[in-house]
Amino acid sequence: MTAQIIDGKAISKTIQADIKNEVATFTGDTGVVPMLAAVLVGDDPASAVYVRNKEKACARAGITSKLHRLPASTDTGTLLELIDQLNNDPEVSGILVQLPLPDQIDTQKALDFVSPEKDVDAFHPHNVGLISQGRPRFLPCTPHGIVQMLAQSGLTTQGKHVVVVGRSDIVGKPMGLMLVQKDCALGPDLCNATVTICHSRTADLKSFTLQADVLVAAIGRANFITADMIKPGAIVIDVGINRTDDGLVGDVEFGPASEVASHITPVPGGVGRLTVTMLLANTLEAARQQYASGRENAAV
Ligand code: NAP
Repeated sequence: MTAQIIDGKAISKTIQADIKNEVATFTGDTGVVPMLAAVLVGDDPASAVYVRNKEKACARAGITSKLHRLPASTDTGTLLELIDQLNNDPEVSGILVQLPLPDQIDTQKALDFVSPEKDVDAFHPHNVGLISQGRPRFLPCTPHGIVQMLAQSGLTTQGKHVVVVGRSDIVGKPMGLMLVQKDCALGPDLCNATVTICHSRTADLKSFTLQADVLVAAIGRANFITADMIKPGAIVIDVGINRTDDGLVGDVEFGPASEVASHITPVPGGVGRLTVTMLLANTLEAARQQYASGRENAAV
């Protein structure tokens, strides 16, 4: 079998074009231009590239973005002051705090300090709670991007066994939480999965991955998932982004895995493209929600 490639570049282009139209309509109707405030602390080159890509994508979609740079020596209090300003700035629709933050900063405290209404990464405990109850305010960008990739490829998860390798708060856990729901914005076909979440303490990992109709690899170890760990015909979603001497590679050994899977995402050009795209969707959604709640308050 040679797997069909799930082309993140093409899918994100289609969705970004839709978002651009929706932003134009929203701005035309309300006079509000959605705005993403990005906070970058320190000078990690990879983080700078990620933030630049997000800014470029915003510009293409008609979303304003503003980058706030703080030095690597910034302490937690200074970062909280900036987040407080952004929380209270009516022009800011969404706030993105680029991770990782320098060691001296209390990352959890900083992320918890972002107003849930502007938390376009969906990291705030209020938003995580809403996701777990199946009534999300925002969907986390990477797992949401994955569901969009499945949807655009005509694939479903209902009744399937989804095995997620990785239990991070950013990818693994929210992925499992989303797919186990009874219903979701994209319909019951794109949730209702039987979900297994594996991690570094999982005994006999291969016995689980071999059961996966849909295998999501979010580990952060280059080429960790080998072809012999994949059930023939499985859908393989590779979230990993690993810098190696051979360039960027995923968590899945792409070539051999493509001979076993029915569908597979490449790295680069896969999930990463969708992560940025869903950030745009969330920024527009935040602007919409804030506009609607402003009108409700004005009416009271
Ligand atoms: P993370 O926080 O480091 O989590 C990695 C997870 O993998 C942990 O749950 C860890 O288990 C598990 N793991 C590590 N070694 C394992 C092993 N030998 N067997 C089974 N599980 C193992 O990473 P993350 O933030 O989720 O990111 C994962 C990867 O995705 C990274 O390469 C990252 O760069 C990439 N990423 C890509 C995007 C995108 O847009 N494409 C977005 C976010 C992240 P423990 O919990 O037991 O330690």
